[in-house]
Amino acid sequence: MIKTIEGLVITSTDYKENDVIIKVLLEDDRFKSLILKGAKKISSHKREVVMPYSLCELTFDDNPNSPVAYLKSAHLKETYFSTSDIFQNATLSLIAELAWRIEERDIVSFELVKICFSKAMTNPLLAVTFYIGRLLKSLGLSPMVDHCALCKRQEVIAIGIKEGGFLCQEHAGFGKILSIERLKKFRLINKCPLDKIDVLEDYGFDYFDFELEAEFFFYHYDLKLKAYDFFKSLFKQY
Ligand SMILES: [Zn+2]
Repeated sequence: MIKTIEGLVITSTDYKENDVIIKVLLEDDRFKSLILKGAKKISSHKREVVMPYSLCELTFDDNPNSPVAYLKSAHLKETYFSTSDIFQNATLSLIAELAWRIEERDIVSFELVKICFSKAMTNPLLAVTFYIGRLLKSLGLSPMVDHCALCKRQEVIAIGIKEGGFLCQEHAGFGKILSIERLKKFRLINKCPLDKIDVLEDYGFDYFDFELEAEFFFYHYDLKLKAYDFFKSLFKQY
């Protein structure tokens, strides 16, 4: 059945001699690979329409049982890619790779990726830290941020990555002792619902907050990402 549907372009790679294959996250939360016939030919404009990190309206013959289809036509609606901001692009790349490489693909939400792509244009660190927080929640791996992860005491002073969240004075030796402000931000980023991301703008999420969230994620979810290494090397200098 020929279908027109919105999709976020996650990756774009060369395929065969003249073709390009793009991976898209469709608005109904499915991933699909679309082949752009002849996209590498000089006369073709297809490729420019479906650059990575853009929102497109895509028309293709949609067989739900097949993960691949030929793209018939595409219409660019929004692009999140920057021609000048390397931080923004590194953020988009990390969000995209995280969406694509999560084994539980059915938890990846179009709406979430779209909101985080958009937020990456103005506040990259918040965008990616929030994204990781939402992924942890969908995977059922959220840190314990209501009380000590080991004894349920309410007064907490530290975060234990391995222990799974906040730690009280008695158990703090296992984790990182942090300021109240940091603990509060860690709680917020892991609790905040999707439609409230803008509220977090006021808290000034920085590289340290990102690193803490990412460390928690990669400790509990085993995954090696090229985009993560690049992201870290880039942001660490600032
Ligand atoms: Zn405790």
